[in-house]
Amino acid sequence: MKEYFHSVNLDKDKCRGCTNCIKRCPTEAIRVRKSKAQIINERCIDCGECIRVCPYHAKTAINDGLDIINNFKYKVVLPAPSLYGQFDKKYSRDNILFALKSIGFDYVFEVAKAAEIVSEATRQLLKNNEIKKPMISSACPAVVRLIQVRFPGLIDNIVKLESPMEVAAKIAKSEIHEKYNIPMDDIGAFFISPCAAKATSVKSPYEKQKSNVDGVIFIKDIYLKILSALNNVDNTKKLAEAGADGIDWANSGGESGALGTEKVLSVDGIHNVIKIFDEIEADRLSDIEFVEALSCTGGCLGGPLTLTNVFIAKTTQKKHMSEASKKSINGIYKRSYKDLVWTSNVEYKPVMKLDQNVSKAIEKLEMLEKLYEELPGLDCGACGSPNCRALAEDIVRGTANETDCIFKLRERIRGLAEEMVELGGKMPPVMDRDK
Ligand code: SF4
Ligand code: SF4
Repeated sequence: MKEYFHSVNLDKDKCRGCTNCIKRCPTEAIRVRKSKAQIINERCIDCGECIRVCPYHAKTAINDGLDIINNFKYKVVLPAPSLYGQFDKKYSRDNILFALKSIGFDYVFEVAKAAEIVSEATRQLLKNNEIKKPMISSACPAVVRLIQVRFPGLIDNIVKLESPMEVAAKIAKSEIHEKYNIPMDDIGAFFISPCAAKATSVKSPYEKQKSNVDGVIFIKDIYLKILSALNNVDNTKKLAEAGADGIDWANSGGESGALGTEKVLSVDGIHNVIKIFDEIEADRLSDIEFVEALSCTGGCLGGPLTLTNVFIAKTTQKKHMSEASKKSINGIYKRSYKDLVWTSNVEYKPVMKLDQNVSKAIEKLEMLEKLYEELPGLDCGACGSPNCRALAEDIVRGTANETDCIFKLRERIRGLAEEMVELGGKMPPVMDRDK
């Protein structure tokens, strides 16, 4: 079986074991052992929270780098809608797309255009009464992974439509093939990404289909190249076609805002997403038909691999939206939602289960609760686990000891010291004399 690819990685040489990351990880996927962080791969959803909080930049994200484009004769660039908000307001979208193209691409296809197509397909899906509500957007791969590992009961709520990135790659390739008669295999499509989660979804797609995207380049890695190309833009070139609705997908509330119903909920920030999913599981959101859930605060504009402050990027994005065409792209790209539906299902990944066998799992849970009760409950993280409950879980799983807790260790040392004092005062019975 092909190994699951993770974009988020640890640079051990830079890690100082400070434990900052273990507390922010939404799936408790990090431990610190022997002064170095370790990522439990099965639990990691590539949300990038640890990249944001590591003060030593020890958490990194792997991407393909710009050189990958040379593997293909014809190169298409697919800029994420969040790219536009990264640059000064004086640059138009035409300028940014022209600069991007001039770096070495033959063709540009805005992912924002594909976002409009996916919005139209979602509007059609919303009318289908057979689909479980509230529908949960699948636009953020970190959120889909979160559901897979932590909320299996919500798998049927996921909107099973291809993402704008995938739709953009597919349409761009067939457009080029038809227009210029270039063989499909010669065309490479490259996504300019705000996050590691998208890179993971290209290498290890959750619906097990091969991605249409041939490489991912992070915004932070291409930013300076675009900035320098912006000095030589041709202001007469018109490349921007996407409408405001597609551009707004970069913002939290953008995707749901385009659906034309008020029965939507938009949540951003992975820890907030978890709280909303708890609410859905508890059946407390029955009046909501669609949930837009994004891992990053502020939406993709706040992606961990962007460079501009999310609030500044939001004002720039607004300016691009106000300049965008009011005409929807859907008039040109006529697609039924059926053309975008995933052909296979998202699987549950039971990484949080204590044991596959139910009775053993219950036994282990009881053991965990007992251990947890005996721990101090300070959640200090000095043991290298994110909190006392996680340490109890690690002990049950056999990856930690009770004395990894410094308070327990002190208790044990004190007990041993008292015992030693007591033993030190003892004499063998033959030598023992009454005082
Ligand atoms: S990327 Fe997210 S899930 Fe993975 S280790 Fe970092 S914080 Fe945890
Ligand atoms: S919110 Fe956007 S930028 Fe952040 S992880 Fe999800 S898809 Fe990536």
